[in-house]
Amino acid sequence: MIRQAKGKTPRRPPPKKTSNNQKDPVGVYCRARPLGADDEECCIEVISNTTIQLHAPDGLKANRNGEFKETQYSFKKVFGIKTTQRELFEDVAKPLVEDLIHCKNGLLFTYGVTGSGKTHTMTGSPGLGGLLPRSLDMIFNSIGPYQAKRYVFKPDDKNGMEVQNQVDALLDRQKRDSQSTVPKTPTTRRIDPEFADMISPEDACRADGVDEDSSYSVFVSYIEIYNNYIYDLLEETPFDPIKPKPPQSKILREDQNHNMYVAGCTEVEVKSTEEAFEVFWRGQKKRRIANTQLNRESSRSHSVFIVKLAQAPLDADGDNVLQDKNQVNVSQLCLVDLAGSERTSRTRAEGSRLREAGNINQSLMTLRTCIEVLRENQMCGTNKMVPYRDSKVTHLFKNYFDGEGKVRMVVCVNPKADDYEETLLVMRFAEMTQEVEVARPVDRPICGFTAGRRQRNQAFKDELTRRLEERGGPVDGEFPTILNQLLQSFPPLPTCELSGPNDDVTLPRLIEALEKRHRVRQMMIEEYNKTANMLKSVLQEQDGNIVSKENFIHEQRGKLGEKDKMIQNQKNEIDRLEKKSKMLEYKIDILQKTTNIYEEDKRSLQHELESREQRLQREMSEKRRMESRMQGIVTDAKLKWEKECERRVNAKQLEMQNKLWVKDEKLKQLKAIVTEGKTENRQPQRPSREKDKVPPKRSASPSPAPSPYNGSQSSLSSLEPIYNFSQMVRPDPHFLRQGSVSVASCISEWEQGVPQSRRQGSQSPPDSRKRAQGLPDSLSRRRGRCWAREVPVQPADVDLEETDHWTAPPVRPLHRRSHSAGGERWVDHKPTSNVDLDTVLQLNLPNAIKVNAPNEKALSKCDKYVLTHQELASDGEIQTKLIKGEVFRTRGGGQAVQFTDIETLKQENPVVASSRKRRSSESGQDGEPMEGDWTDVETRCSVALEMRAGSNLGPGYQHHGYTKRRKP
Ligand code: ADP
Ligand code: MG
Repeated sequence: MIRQAKGKTPRRPPPKKTSNNQKDPVGVYCRARPLGADDEECCIEVISNTTIQLHAPDGLKANRNGEFKETQYSFKKVFGIKTTQRELFEDVAKPLVEDLIHCKNGLLFTYGVTGSGKTHTMTGSPGLGGLLPRSLDMIFNSIGPYQAKRYVFKPDDKNGMEVQNQVDALLDRQKRDSQSTVPKTPTTRRIDPEFADMISPEDACRADGVDEDSSYSVFVSYIEIYNNYIYDLLEETPFDPIKPKPPQSKILREDQNHNMYVAGCTEVEVKSTEEAFEVFWRGQKKRRIANTQLNRESSRSHSVFIVKLAQAPLDADGDNVLQDKNQVNVSQLCLVDLAGSERTSRTRAEGSRLREAGNINQSLMTLRTCIEVLRENQMCGTNKMVPYRDSKVTHLFKNYFDGEGKVRMVVCVNPKADDYEETLLVMRFAEMTQEVEVARPVDRPICGFTAGRRQRNQAFKDELTRRLEERGGPVDGEFPTILNQLLQSFPPLPTCELSGPNDDVTLPRLIEALEKRHRVRQMMIEEYNKTANMLKSVLQEQDGNIVSKENFIHEQRGKLGEKDKMIQNQKNEIDRLEKKSKMLEYKIDILQKTTNIYEEDKRSLQHELESREQRLQREMSEKRRMESRMQGIVTDAKLKWEKECERRVNAKQLEMQNKLWVKDEKLKQLKAIVTEGKTENRQPQRPSREKDKVPPKRSASPSPAPSPYNGSQSSLSSLEPIYNFSQMVRPDPHFLRQGSVSVASCISEWEQGVPQSRRQGSQSPPDSRKRAQGLPDSLSRRRGRCWAREVPVQPADVDLEETDHWTAPPVRPLHRRSHSAGGERWVDHKPTSNVDLDTVLQLNLPNAIKVNAPNEKALSKCDKYVLTHQELASDGEIQTKLIKGEVFRTRGGGQAVQFTDIETLKQENPVVASSRKRRSSESGQDGEPMEGDWTDVETRCSVALEMRAGSNLGPGYQHHGYTKRRKP
């Protein structure tokens, strides 16, 4: 409506686009030409018949990133240098020609760098016809016998085709014959030797399925697009040698079917390959001449050779082309030799040349852009505008990409290194082009006439000729027989000879006879008409039947087509499902594998869990065993300690009894003194077992027998007056083990015997350890203890760690008394409140006077005084201090004591001590003595004899060291 409003011819609605929405990708083929010279560097390699590889030439090997470059490109087919023109034609152009004959459009173009073989591929070289002559040859081979007479089809200047009536066609033919100098029939024509060898009839191909009931005509046009101008290469312009006119450019128009065409372009009807190629050659020549005249480079122009095939059905008689424009089908094949794909830099162009090159590039660039946009629209579903109009080439081909048809491209490659970079760009574009899809053209419906009309018509004509020849051929000047027979069936004519001017018999008789004949003729005509009408009606009836049958067939064909489509769809669906099922199978496979891995994991984890459980079980049972063992040990120890306590209580009781007895004795003596003045010194009776075991009285002045220490430690000789080791009795281990001896007796035994053990230990410490093991537990488990003296003098510098305590007890010569020990008498003051600590270190003073409270009498007899004082230390242990002093006589005759020294006995908790000390003793578990046994501090302390410098007192307190016993 809008168009009408604009005053334009209303157009036919555009043909329904693709009733089937099948599409085919642009078929891209690659052809490599041989190198110009054998020693040239080659930068391509045909990998397979679909893949080609480009190697960067030596000079270019490292690209900007410094990496080696090899690129592969895949195409529908790759043709190596050995590919023949025929092979290429079979693969590339043949299907397009077949399509053309079946009313389908096609576009074939060659693309590549200048010199890559585009023209060689499209047109061919001498002796090697290219795709163009071969296509023409195939067309004429196929439609040869079915071509319409010249001028039956006539282009209408609007890209359409009309059918002329016989007379007009005949007149046109006569006109052409009169103008043309060329001989009438092509067979008799001489072919131009310039291109004769490019047409090779022996290679002739033929398309199948040519409709015999149609008439065909081929029209060719040849244009050149240069600098974005279109020139008609077939236009006949009167040549003016004085002022040659520059060629007029043509414009593009859109026909009523929205197809683009070059308005006013010459379309030459051709009837044979030779004629067609001759026309092409003429155009080619013109192009060459124009380019030379105008100083243009032909490689910069696009040449487009269009082959149009018009076909229309024969009429019902099969005699003439049906005079119906709507029944004319026109298909076209465009053969395009594109300009060389060069960058401006390579063309070495300047000024207007540069602009030309730019334009050439521009049109190729537009082609690339169009292809890219098309591809994007198709792949991404976008609807971007494709810039076809930006250049004439793309604008002309718009319908091929927008509408339907088959598009094929041959990419030509020159393997030489110089072209490498441009070839790379060409390849990229070509590879991308393959992703563009073009709608597949549909089959045209056939017209409603009976098939085989041409054959029938031909057969009828043949038969008629034969019969005419048989019956009434003008043999010997006679009439044809059929005419004779017909004449014989009429009433014979009377003799027509007039006897005289007054003969009025002959003429009326002749008139009568002629009238008779006329009547017969009338009758015969009537008869004939009757029969003819009858025959006509029968024929019409038959025709109607045939038409209805044809319609039925057509209908059935339509249905068949639908069914075919359905089958195709279902096939596609099946394909899709098969693909899907394959994918799913693959997925299942992967999942199966994953499951297996997980199961494996699970098994190993379970295994680990089991082993851990077993270990736990084992550890638990171990723990239980340990618990029961510890419980056993605890009850054992408890029992032992209970027994020990009982024993101690008993011993204490006995001791107390002893003390009581001693006191009683004293009391009795005192009583006796009081009552009798002087009585006999009676030996008191000790109660119970102690009776036999009175410790031997020590001599006040022990004999200076040589000590075993003398040899090794001379300083020990100073101790001899007090510690007469040789006289000391070592406690009998056997006896001690009895357990029946009282603690008191033990102590008294110890007072005399312990130094012996110490001496033994000095000779063989491990021995003494062994012996010590024989001691009652109560003793051996006694806490570790040590003596310390508090003297207001500088501290002792004896290094306990360094000294061998057994061979060199740290006794200072300072403590030696100048006089003999026997010369000193001590007052041993022990307050009654003191507790007997049952310690190993005990105050042992021979000839001392023991008192509970100091008295003058005792003091007057002695010159030394010692007080055993007990107090509670800060750690809760009882601490015993020996406070020593010297006795002076006062001027008044009394006694005074001056304290000079304090010695302290400190006890330590063995548990705490043992945790601090080194556990070296445990290394000798099998009873073997080890050096380490003597290295721990406790052991050393327990055997150390410490005396501080500055003490002027007598012997200190001896530490009766026992090595500790191992824990049970
Ligand atoms: P273009 O048209 O691409 O510029 P041409 O077709 O003119 O290139 O080829 C340049 C030259 O290379 C011509 O002489 C041609 O004969 C030769 N040539 C091209 N392709 C081949 C081929 N496949 N085999 C042999 N010669 C070839
Ligand atoms: Mg060329």
